[in-house]
Amino acid sequence: MDDETDFCVVGAGPAGLVLALLLLRSGARVTVLERASSFSRDYRGEILQPGGLALLDQLGVLAGARARGGYAHRRFRLVERGRALLDIDYRRLPAPYDHLLSLPQRHLLEELLAQCRGRDGFDYRAGTRISELVREDGRVRGVVADGPDGRRTVRAHCVVGADGRFSKTRRLAGIDGQRLEAFDHDVLWFKVPLPCPADPPDVTIFRSSANPVLAYHSYPDRLQLGWTLPHRGYAAVAEHGIEHVKQQIGRAIPQYAELIDAHLHTLADLSLLDVFAGCADRWALDGLLLIGDSAHTHSPIGAQGINLAIQDAVLAHPVLVDSLRSRDAGAARLDRFTGQRRRSVERVLKLQVLQSRAMLSQNRVGNALRPRAARLLAHTPVYPRVLRRIAYGDRPVVLAADLLTR
Ligand SMILES: Cc1cc2nc3c(=O)[nH]c(=O)nc-3n(C[C@H](O)[C@H](O)[C@H](O)COP(=O)(O)OP(=O)(O)OC[C@H]3O[C@@H](n4cnc5c(N)ncnc54)[C@H](O)[C@@H]3O)c2cc1C
Repeated sequence: MDDETDFCVVGAGPAGLVLALLLLRSGARVTVLERASSFSRDYRGEILQPGGLALLDQLGVLAGARARGGYAHRRFRLVERGRALLDIDYRRLPAPYDHLLSLPQRHLLEELLAQCRGRDGFDYRAGTRISELVREDGRVRGVVADGPDGRRTVRAHCVVGADGRFSKTRRLAGIDGQRLEAFDHDVLWFKVPLPCPADPPDVTIFRSSANPVLAYHSYPDRLQLGWTLPHRGYAAVAEHGIEHVKQQIGRAIPQYAELIDAHLHTLADLSLLDVFAGCADRWALDGLLLIGDSAHTHSPIGAQGINLAIQDAVLAHPVLVDSLRSRDAGAARLDRFTGQRRRSVERVLKLQVLQSRAMLSQNRVGNALRPRAARLLAHTPVYPRVLRRIAYGDRPVVLAADLLTR
């Protein structure tokens, strides 16, 4: 027999689980399908901006997620040969959201899932992948998914694709992800053991004559490093082997060279992130909505993806509740979400491209101008505006608290 629900959410990332919790608390039934069988999987983004923190707090999720472990970082800095070129000081924002939070993503997801569990109408299927969309009369009516209990059909008032940058839901719907080669760098990620000091240091990008490296303390006792390299340049780097990579990274961050030497053994210890942007040409079809990375994909530089995913869920929530009440999940109604959101997302993307070029590019003119431009920025009225935009996004996002009936 087919399963019946109000909303079938594909993907239990930040977008999917925040949305599931909001819909459940608004009295809807929600089934979440998640491909992974646990949250302890590959490294995923973990730096949260103040805008995301504020929304999670309003939703009653932040305290529990933090209690599982994370670090507050007061500043984001761009440092070249020991000198800070750019110093984004989050303490200039109003408390309590006056910092970045590095929070292992599983801590956030586990807390969200714990809050969904036990609520009437919630069904969570781990280890379950979407394989088909059910279409009837020209609209999406549900999904077919394969999981530990075999193949099942979940019929729903509306299907929400929240299954990330390579979204299968998007592909099955025939929607183009519109990949954009907007960034000049890919990132090689790895962690090395390093206890965090009592006062966690800043999130820092270290520049030198070698490729820039992003570094921050990751809970509980790791230093997370992201070595940037030219987009699609990994094969050329890998040809030279791990010793060459270690040498390059050691040149950019000599203070950690010994640590890296001791803990990086093979290229398999590094995980390559192909950095691209994307903005799907449609976010809604009759019976289907895309949110988070499945609708628009971002670079990890600038830490915007989780913020945007949480904001998407918060903004899609009233549109979806309204569609359930009116029994209308047509594209025109769902596009009330798309309409207001697409421009904001595009603006954040533009800001990320600017940030990325300003911080990572290696050309003579840029290198010569960077220190002066950074000093100027810090002393103009533009600085607080830029800081607010990085922290909160393009415009305020308000949670529809009046719809939360339980
Ligand atoms: C290496 C890396 C570092 C990053 N660093 C940061 C950072 O520090 N800060 C920041 O803000 N952003 C960062 N990002 C981006 C951020 O992680 C994403 O923007 C954010 O997680 C998007 O949330 P989402 O819920 O839309 O998608 P995701 O978090 O990608 O979640 C999608 C979920 O769908 C599931 N799924 C996929 N396919 C299927 C399927 N066929 N069936 C069922 N389930 C499926 C996946 O298993 C996953 O759980 C980083 C990204 C990467 C890759």
